[in-house]
Amino acid sequence: YALLLGAMCGLLTGILCAYVMTIRMRPGREILSAINREQFYVVYQPVVHASDLHIGGVEVLMRWTHPVAGNIPPDAFISFAEGQNLIVPLTRHLFALIAKDAPALQKILPPGTKLGINISPNHLHAESFKQDIRELLASLPENYFSVVLEVTERDMLNEKQAIKLFEWLHGEGIEIAIDDFGTGHSALIYLERFTLDYLKIDRGFVNAIGMETVTSPVLDTVLTLTHRLNLVTVAEGVETQEQAAWLRDHGVDFLQGYWISRPLTLTQLVEAHNEPAKYFTSR
Ligand code: C2E
Ligand code: MG
Ligand code: MG
Ligand code: MG
Repeated sequence: YALLLGAMCGLLTGILCAYVMTIRMRPGREILSAINREQFYVVYQPVVHASDLHIGGVEVLMRWTHPVAGNIPPDAFISFAEGQNLIVPLTRHLFALIAKDAPALQKILPPGTKLGINISPNHLHAESFKQDIRELLASLPENYFSVVLEVTERDMLNEKQAIKLFEWLHGEGIEIAIDDFGTGHSALIYLERFTLDYLKIDRGFVNAIGMETVTSPVLDTVLTLTHRLNLVTVAEGVETQEQAAWLRDHGVDFLQGYWISRPLTLTQLVEAHNEPAKYFTSR
């Protein structure tokens, strides 16, 4: 009986394990097969100078068209990939997609255009990080684009390591933007300790412009501070002309958001270049 019971238990545990495994493995396998089946693609959202609205850069944003689930937003699949230890292959795939588009981008974007690429913390600390970055740089047209890596405050937990890494990146000619600024904590300390180039003001702050009679004193203070620290500022999520004007008048350097342009596919970006009126109707 004891033997039988043991065998039964073993079998049950086995089934349970297999069940849990399939559930837990599925998303990972999905991402890998989605890479192979070319279900990921990238869109580019223009980032413009606040002064004259000329393009200064594009932020590269990833998209996944799942055959059954449809469009899965990056906020969902990026954290999925992070949890499955798949952010490195996914980001390497992203780099390959950018490299593939680069010759076409070079034809329509002025030299020196910044390519903003989001990097997740797991990748920043991965062993292959430097090699991946070198490969990205080697795959882009020489001395044409300027790469800006967008990282968030939570990425910089290991301070010493982050400082070294940023030094190395600067040596490679890469700039660093702190993304979604204002959503994390200890942010102000980071600004002083790290050599950052850009600060992207989270759209939560930008949203508030025009909603209140007196605009956020916090935003005012952040802008004063960033200017004193010589950081270049980018406002995210600019949706109205009023917000754009306020930000420009308060010394914000670059604007990004639906009022300027939605994220565009390469084809749309080419069309926008050829026929700006069709795409930039809002301004
Ligand atoms: P993010 O880096 O802060 O990117 C800006 C997000 O704001 C994008 O969402 C963009 O479509 C959206 N957005 C731009 N303008 C406006 C606006 O005027 N109004 C509103 N409401 N939203 C606006 P998206 O593409 O869904 O990406 C969400 C987040 O997913 C990104 O936030 C980024 O953190 C992450 N992400 C996207 N692509 C990648 C990637 O390739 N790698 C990594 N690691 N993360 C990525
Ligand atoms: Mg970003
Ligand atoms: Mg952002
Ligand atoms: Mg954001």
